[in-house]
Amino acid sequence: MSMTMPPARPLIDRYGRHISYLRISVTDRCDFRCVYCMAEDMTFLPKKDVLSFEEIEAIATAFIDRGTTRIRLTGGEPLVRRDIMDLVRTLGARIGHGLDELTITTNGSQLRNHAGGLAAAGVKRINVSLDTLDASRFTAITRRGRIDDVLDGIEAARDAGLALKINMVAMRGVNDDEIEPMMAWAHGKGMGLTLIEGMPLGEVGIDRVDSYLPLRELHDRLARHYTFSKLDKRTGGPARYVHVAETGGVLGYITPMSHNFCESCNRVRLTATGQLFMCLGQDDQVNLRDALRDGGRVALDEALDRAMLLKPKGHDFVIDRAQPAPAVARHMSVTGG
Ligand code: SAM
Ligand code: SF4
Repeated sequence: MSMTMPPARPLIDRYGRHISYLRISVTDRCDFRCVYCMAEDMTFLPKKDVLSFEEIEAIATAFIDRGTTRIRLTGGEPLVRRDIMDLVRTLGARIGHGLDELTITTNGSQLRNHAGGLAAAGVKRINVSLDTLDASRFTAITRRGRIDDVLDGIEAARDAGLALKINMVAMRGVNDDEIEPMMAWAHGKGMGLTLIEGMPLGEVGIDRVDSYLPLRELHDRLARHYTFSKLDKRTGGPARYVHVAETGGVLGYITPMSHNFCESCNRVRLTATGQLFMCLGQDDQVNLRDALRDGGRVALDEALDRAMLLKPKGHDFVIDRAQPAPAVARHMSVTGG
């Protein structure tokens, strides 16, 4: 009989939440400059400050040893980091050995080249961000992307047998006329579609108050034409899912602004420089890079214990004309979306 032993020192925070999900930003760099995510003239981190693959692996191992079963690689754009597939293969080798799942969130620009490698490394499903199917709108939103690269990447991923979910940031006056066509397109290809509410992270290039579209409002609009049934699928994150009878697909909503999901939050985020953020919407952090470099695994474990004491009960997001500055100054590409 095979038995999985519970971790010796599981990561449990002050509110009894078990941390089982780690998001790792492998780079803050990106080949796009999406208007809601980055400023046009972003300054990226010096490469020497970024964790090496060995350091990321050491930190991931500490998490897995302490009960983390799911890891998602993100960024910035994870697939633009040099030799990223080396890291994917090393972490992929932990699947079935502590890790249940390794996933990735990508803008899809390099997916054509990496889809086969991801599947071979044990990745089963990926999220691809795509806010429009219109080529010129796509280039306007990403400020430099080519939609054909992403669409080719999506086809390559489907051919490689990866399950796909499309993430779409819903923006009033930008792409809110495309929700239904995107859903028909994604569901028609057997892919999920998840709508995301814009979050106030970092100074960017658009007016967030004008483009903010509460998904509750969108849901009411869609419910006039589609039959939804709630799915129980809970991920410990801010996503809620419904099954759409007319398309046979799954529609997700990520509503950090208008819905409080914090009580069941099971995740933490590691930045490319080794800061561990306990909440996307708060500034509490622990420096795992310094702990690892100065004191090895013992210091890393101590830092993780400290981190559990810091995880806040909830986030501080507000989008408001009276409070025009972002609630959190760092960009999503720093913390990892
Ligand atoms: N570059 C990859 C990508 O675009 O999928 C991974 C990183 S990106 C930061 C992760 C997700 O965060 C994307 O789906 C993106 O649309 C979303 N995102 C970025 N900035 C956001 C913001 N301010 N509010 C809501 N979602 C945001
Ligand atoms: Fe790059 Fe992803 Fe941010 Fe767009 S959302 S700028 S693709 S990190």
